[in-house]
This record gives sequence, structure tokens and C-alpha cells, in this order.
Amino acid sequence: MSDQFSKVPRVAVIGGGITGLAAACRLRELAAAHEIPLETILLESTDRVGGALETVRSGGYVIETGADSILSEKPPALRLVKQLGLEAEVIGTQERFRRTYVVHRGKLVPIPDGFSLIAPALLRPVLRSKLFSLLGKLRILAEPLIPRRRRHEDESLAAFVRRRLGRQVLERIAQPLAGGIYTADPAMLSVAATMPRFVEMERRYGSLIRGLKAASRSSQAEREVSGARWSLFISFANGIAQLTDALATRLGSAVRYRAHVTGLERQEPAEHPRRRMWRLRLEDDLSVEADAVVCTIPAYAAARLVRPHNEYLSVMLESIEYASAATVNLAFREKDFATVPHGFGFVVPVIEGRKIIAGSFSSLKYSGRAPGGMVLARAFLGGALQKDLMELDDNEMIGAATEEFSALLGIKAAPVLTKLRRWPRSMPQYALGHLQRASVIEQEAARLPCLALAGAFLRGVGIPDCVQAGESAAEDIFSEFRRARCR
Ligand SMILES: Cc1cc2nc3c(=O)[nH]c(=O)nc-3n(C[C@H](O)[C@H](O)[C@H](O)COP(=O)(O)OP(=O)(O)OC[C@H]3O[C@@H](n4cnc5c(N)ncnc54)[C@H](O)[C@@H]3O)c2cc1C
Repeated sequence: MSDQFSKVPRVAVIGGGITGLAAACRLRELAAAHEIPLETILLESTDRVGGALETVRSGGYVIETGADSILSEKPPALRLVKQLGLEAEVIGTQERFRRTYVVHRGKLVPIPDGFSLIAPALLRPVLRSKLFSLLGKLRILAEPLIPRRRRHEDESLAAFVRRRLGRQVLERIAQPLAGGIYTADPAMLSVAATMPRFVEMERRYGSLIRGLKAASRSSQAEREVSGARWSLFISFANGIAQLTDALATRLGSAVRYRAHVTGLERQEPAEHPRRRMWRLRLEDDLSVEADAVVCTIPAYAAARLVRPHNEYLSVMLESIEYASAATVNLAFREKDFATVPHGFGFVVPVIEGRKIIAGSFSSLKYSGRAPGGMVLARAFLGGALQKDLMELDDNEMIGAATEEFSALLGIKAAPVLTKLRRWPRSMPQYALGHLQRASVIEQEAARLPCLALAGAFLRGVGIPDCVQAGESAAEDIFSEFRRARCR
């Protein structure tokens, strides 16, 4: 059986995560703006859109099982929020709780003020911190004296941080933060692909500390001129999925659920000889024809679809490894804490030998996440350095998360709510050489007619990066249409 043949040119977007949704909306917007008849359909395997963005609302809780925040500094996501008319729904973090901790010798120790991911802009808080020994502090103070690296080949995040700031910053800050953001092993992670800002600071200022000081002076000046509108991280009153739900609403019946694409063929349909089209094979012997395709599924899944058309591209896509992770949401009574937490959350260095890689206090980070008197917390498990924990069964995983929260925060009673969500092979690993690999993938994909690839596996894993990637892929395909290359 075949989907009805479309007389109007059609673009099929594969995958209903944030990348695919952004791509489909951009295509519709471009077609409307240029008054070009173009049908866009979005094919999503499951019965929901959003991919790694999923909010569960229940009993007064707004539970994020996947991504929970958008970095407001990167414009593409905010631009989309405005276009969707969602601005009034945006909420910032609760600034009175702005603090992140690191687990150090079994206790929560605040990350010193002025630390920006892997390096400090301010030295006084570092000197006062209990996180580093005297030797560790002296090593940080020496950072401006460390000569710039002359070689240009890629370096791992671990080597970069150890070289500039020493082992303690690597083990106690950079490793757990990279674990929290990329669920990655910093010894494998490309610094150029994940933290290019710091590579550029070393190149330009010869020091990360000097670079951060300069950056903080200019962002201060910028804030004074523009008046900062949002906190660094934002979400929505009813959870992060408000964004993906609004995109799905805008797309309406263009979204086809339970449409798992299993194959991609190039053909001339009998109904329209000389019109070269893509046939997308679905399960149950169904198929859909489209003049162009935007593929936004994970690299390993895209590899299977492109294999018959470009073996090398398929191999390159398969070479991007993915880590698995899980989140466990836990709600506790505030009165059951020995001391009520005061912060957004904490990260856990692997040297601490614990079963979670990070924890957050969702109801302190954003208001309206839990009923009064309750604290909604969330544990993050797994990642590249704790793969074995993904083998735990559901009860064991919830047990491990509860045990760690109770031990670290002195919680006297069991949680009143638990919610586990597994995210198998969800986190692309930007290994050494990633930027070069991404360029090769882009070049090879460009050789396939009327097909664009986009997603978290290429040029950034964050939500704004994915919005940008989806929109750019849509723009590329649209310009191929305008040059009549897809008909
Ligand atoms: C647990 C977790 C927490 C995160 N936290 C944050 C955060 O707080 N902030 C942030 O900016 N980023 C965060 N990220 C990263 C970010 O959420 C992801 O990188 C991003 O959402 C990926 O979007 P995507 O559309 O590229 O892919 P996905 O979200 O993976 O979407 C791909 C979609 O394609 C569908 N699909 C797969 N195969 C097929 C097929 N063959 N046919 C049809 N459909 C198919 C899937 O069902 C899925 O819906 C987090 C990620 C995870 C996993």
C-alpha cells in the first residue's frame, strides 16, 4: 500500500524531536513567505513528539523526564519561542537559589562563585573554597603563566583542563560537568567541538582566567546597555514540552505519529515519470513519497537509511558513538530533609564512586514544579563513565537514586513519588576529531540530492543548537526547491 501520491511538491521530515519540529515549521514558514505550494509532513516513530523533551504533569507536579532547560544566551530557541507566541509562558530560574554544588568527600561543596564551566573568572572565591587543596589552588593561580599551546590538532577536554588548570579542576569540576552535560568521558571528548570558547580564549589571551575576566567585563557592559531580559536558563510555566507541543499544534495534521521510517529509496513514480522522488518505507508495508527529505533522527538510525545511497556517509554516521542515560524524579517532603537544599543542584565526580552523575532540585530551580511543602528532585544516572549502571532493573535504579539523595542530603523518609525514564543511546559523544567528522558528513550528505541531515549529533547537542540545525536544514532544502533541483 502506498500513501496517496502528492501533486504538490512534498518534503518529508523524519523524526519529531526538537530538530525535526523546528525544520518542519521553518519549511512551512518559507513556503508561505514565498507563496510556493509545498506540503510538509513529519514522520515520527512514537505516539508523541518532543524526543528528549518530555514533561509529565501529575498531582500538582511538573516533572521533566528529559531536557529541563534552555540556554537563553543562544538566540535560535528564543526566536522560535517568540514566533510561536510563547513568550508569556517563559519562566526564568529562581535566582535566590542560584548555586551549584559538587560532591566532595561525600558532602555538597559549592562551586566557587565566578567559575564558568571549567575555569574561574574570580580568584578570591577559589582561594576560599574547600574544594581544592593548597597545591590545587596554587596550580589554578599559575594558569596565566602556562604558555599557550602551539599545536593545532584537536585535544581532549581532559588534556586541555589538566594542562591549563591542573588535575584537581579536571577531577572535581570539569569531569563531573562534562558528565552532566555530555554524559561523556572527558578523556575522549573533543574540547574544540564542545567548548570552543575556551580554546579561543587560550589562543587570544594566552589564559582562560584572563579570557574570562575580559568576557565578564564585556558582558557586564552589554547587560548595562541592553538590560538582561532572561536568566541564563529558561523553561516554561507548564514544562519544557510546551515548546514542542506548540510546534506540533502549529503543524497540525502534518505530523504523522507511529510512522517509523525503515528505508529510503530513490525512484521515479509510475504516476509521474521523470519526477525523481524519495520513497520512505514505513512499517506494515506502507510508504510515503516525497520530493525532498530532512532526516533528523540519531546518527546510527540515519546511517541505516542512507547506506544504499552513500556507504561512506553511512560509515561516518555510525562512527558517532552514543551514551545512554536515565533520570529518576523523586519528590520528598521538605520536612524530611536534615537541611533543606538551597541551590539548583549538584554534580558528582566519578572519583567519588557514587551511583549518580548529577542531581537537581527542580522545584527550587523553577517555581511551580511541586505542591507546597514538597521538594521535587531529579537524579541523572549512566553516561559514558557509568555504563554498567544502565544494567540495573527499574527498582534497583530508583533505589540507587533514592539512596544517594538520602545519603547526601540527610533525608529521613522515602520519596512520596518516583518516576524513572531511560534514555538509551540518546547522547551523541563528540569524540576527538568530531569537527572534522561533522564536516565530512555534511559534505557527503550534500552529494545526495534533495536530502538534508540534521540533529544533535553534528554541531551542538543543546536545544538552541538543534533548533538552529533543523532550521538550517529546512533552508537548504528550500533553496534546492527554488533552484528547481528537487522536481
Ligand atoms: C536526559 C537528557 C537531558 C537533556 N537535558 C538538556 C537540557 O536541559 N538542555 C538542553 O539544551 N539539552 C538537553 N539535552 C540534549 C537535547 O535535549 C537533545 O540533544 C535534543 O533534544 C535532541 O533533539 P533531536 O530532535 O535532534 O533528537 P531526538 O530528541 O532524539 O529526536 C529524534 C526523534 O526521532 C524519532 N525517530 C527515531 N528514529 C526514527 C525513525 N526511523 N522514523 C521516524 N522517527 C524516528 C524519535 O522517536 C525521536 O522523537 C538533554 C538530553 C537528554 C537525553
